[in-house]
Amino acid sequence: MGKLFEETADKFKSYVMPTYSPQIMFVRGKDTRLWDDDGNEYLDFASGIAVCSLGHCNERVTRAIQEQCGKLVHISNLYMNELMPELARRLAANAMPGSKVFFCNSGAEANEGVIKLARKYGNKTGRNHIISMDNSFHGRTLATLAATGRAKYRKGFEPDMPGFSQVPFNDFDALKAAVNDNTCAVMLEMLQGEGGVFPADREYLKKVRALCDEKDILLLCDEVQCGMGRLGTRFAYQKFGIEPDVLTMAKAIANGFPMGAIVAGKKCADVFEVGNHASTFGGTPLACAAALAVQDAFDQDGVLENCEKEGEFLRAELSRIAEKYEFIKTVRGMGLMIGMVLDRPAGGLASLLLKDKMVALTAGETVLRLVPPLTITREDSELAIAKIAKAVEEFAKQEGLK
Ligand SMILES: *Cc1c(COP(=O)(O)O)cnc(C)c1O
Repeated sequence: MGKLFEETADKFKSYVMPTYSPQIMFVRGKDTRLWDDDGNEYLDFASGIAVCSLGHCNERVTRAIQEQCGKLVHISNLYMNELMPELARRLAANAMPGSKVFFCNSGAEANEGVIKLARKYGNKTGRNHIISMDNSFHGRTLATLAATGRAKYRKGFEPDMPGFSQVPFNDFDALKAAVNDNTCAVMLEMLQGEGGVFPADREYLKKVRALCDEKDILLLCDEVQCGMGRLGTRFAYQKFGIEPDVLTMAKAIANGFPMGAIVAGKKCADVFEVGNHASTFGGTPLACAAALAVQDAFDQDGVLENCEKEGEFLRAELSRIAEKYEFIKTVRGMGLMIGMVLDRPAGGLASLLLKDKMVALTAGETVLRLVPPLTITREDSELAIAKIAKAVEEFAKQEGLK
């Protein structure tokens, strides 16, 4: 740890609310690499948290931000903004037919908006209850917290916002039993991120879609983490064979520039009317310029193909490592959202990787979560596998395991 870290940590301790406890400091990034304040180079398999999906300081995005910065940073949504409708068009072109988009600034804000939209949709038939999933994560604002299926995040912030309940994920009978005359929406992540890199079952989703259609219930998909190319398709739902009514996105939408979005298919594209919803910074020109550059990369740089190819390679290699150890239960995930599931907390393994200059995440306590940039090279993947093989061996020794 360098001197800069020490000085910064002192300020952090004195002046920053203690909601985070960073143990390391990065001062520079390029593509799949990060550098700490001591000049050490790291291989980044976290991408923020699935945010910098085109790698750090991607040239297209950096250039777009620099150019837009000198032209117009912000304009109120009271005035026409050239870039915002163009970005909406490009997102909608690849999403559900007839989609319209609302822009905001984060995942929680997108989910908050979708909750409002679902309530407005339900209110015309006197319904306002939303069913979400155990182990889900939808954000830290009060409504998204009430939708989040992890009670520990709500502890101390009672009373819970009314209008939400959870059922076990991938359990259709439980969902069917919970649906009643007051249900206006079902909300889920098609591949749960924070909950442990846990994918929905295709057959389950097909039944959920049919139930929602039958009862005129909206299916809201939170693609904040698993969307935006992470699974190898533009949108996560395209991997599962069904269409949501509305989806939300954020994290990777502008490769690190803060932005969120709601994409609503034709059934609810016009639920919000003038004056119903707003956000000062939503769709600001600078954010749109960054997000448009991300769209260009998806159109022209073979990002999705690379995600599929490297995802397949990594999952196969990780499975080979997993076979050698009893304490590694399985490897799961899709595209470049990969979880190595242990029979114990995975934090120690992530720490060993960090010591070996590789950044990785955990999820749901026992899962090592790997979400590298979608632009990784085969050399990056091979280096990651070598580091993981070494760390797993060390971890086994440390824990006295086979
Ligand atoms: C990160 C995340 C959120 C919250 O996004 P913020 O930008 O932190 O508000 C919501 N849903 C999912 C699935 C996420 O991974």
